[in-house]
Amino acid sequence: MALSLAPYAVQVDHSRGRRHPEPPHPYRNDFQRDRDRVIHSRAFRRLEAKTQVFTGRYSDHFRNRLTHTIEVAQISRTIATQLALNVDLVEALALAHDIGHPPFGHAGEKALDAAMRQHGLFFDHNLHALRIVEDFEQRYAAFRGLNLTFEMREGIIKHSRDYNPAEFPELAEYWLDKLPPLEAQLIDATDELAYNTADLDDGYEARLLTLEQIRESVPVFAGFFDEVKKLYPVAPKKLQFNEVLRRILDRWVSDLIQNTQAQLDLLADSDPRTVRDRRGKAGEDARRSIATLDEIRAFPRRLVGLSSQIEEERAQTKDFLYRNLYYSPALQPEKEDAERVITELFDLWMKQPEKLPASYQEKAESEPRARVVCDYIAGMTDTYIYEQYEKYCGRKASV
Ligand code: MG
Repeated sequence: MALSLAPYAVQVDHSRGRRHPEPPHPYRNDFQRDRDRVIHSRAFRRLEAKTQVFTGRYSDHFRNRLTHTIEVAQISRTIATQLALNVDLVEALALAHDIGHPPFGHAGEKALDAAMRQHGLFFDHNLHALRIVEDFEQRYAAFRGLNLTFEMREGIIKHSRDYNPAEFPELAEYWLDKLPPLEAQLIDATDELAYNTADLDDGYEARLLTLEQIRESVPVFAGFFDEVKKLYPVAPKKLQFNEVLRRILDRWVSDLIQNTQAQLDLLADSDPRTVRDRRGKAGEDARRSIATLDEIRAFPRRLVGLSSQIEEERAQTKDFLYRNLYYSPALQPEKEDAERVITELFDLWMKQPEKLPASYQEKAESEPRARVVCDYIAGMTDTYIYEQYEKYCGRKASV
């Protein structure tokens, strides 16, 4: 297995290990165990009742954070296999990539961050995810958290953004001045491809987007639509739509694979010290050795990405979704609900901490109260926070 990995892939045998050393498992490697620990965590199960874009009132067919996560994992595995990256680590990171999200999707995140800023703090879902796997999950008698490998924790923090080492000294162990491995870089790119296509699908199904509107504003969609119409002229509209969408996803995924590989090859060729033996064997001359993981980490920019042409296509699509779906008046009531529910509950628990569960009251003795209230809220599902809202604020949400 390890022999077929690219020379710059993360190798499980070279993992920097867990905080609390554990004996190896007889037939699962450490990244497979990380993946399994994520799947068996409570935070992972709660993704089922957290909004991705649409709340449950629209349809049971739409994505929630859990099904979105599974789609990201599927696409990431495909790409990682083609790039000869460590598929176990990629899958584990993909499954964990959204576990730090609060209820109510993006609107919830914004409201929680705003509430925290009133107290001089802030909310960041990657940092929250790290706290979940390091501390909040309690499954094992020997340690708190999931005791994931360094590579998992680093990827959870660094997959989608860079943190300034001066601003985040508490993250120093994660080498903030270095880029994450390709396995982590990949997750952010895949996440975008997954939701840009899925949100077109759900937006169309919810009748918030029309076929005509999408064809007009999303050129890649229009191009494939003409092709599909010739192939399946009498197929139902929704099936034509699906045929277009699978072609877009396939085009983007293929481009991501090819362009990333091309960037890596260019990197290998551009410096005589980093010429890479594609078969992964040691070169005859040590100086002509492979592009290593260290070189990926030290490179001035992330190397996983789309070609500029396809990136433009994707950006057009994202822009279209922002203008016509994410900010559509139809989704406004949900957003207002999210803001009201989170803000009011946050204020209530700040003023009356005795209404927090006992374990959180205890925590508030050693941590800022706002942080504890934020952690409590961020862990909630949409369903649970609505129940709390009714219980403590005496009102139902409006949608
Ligand atoms: Mg995501």
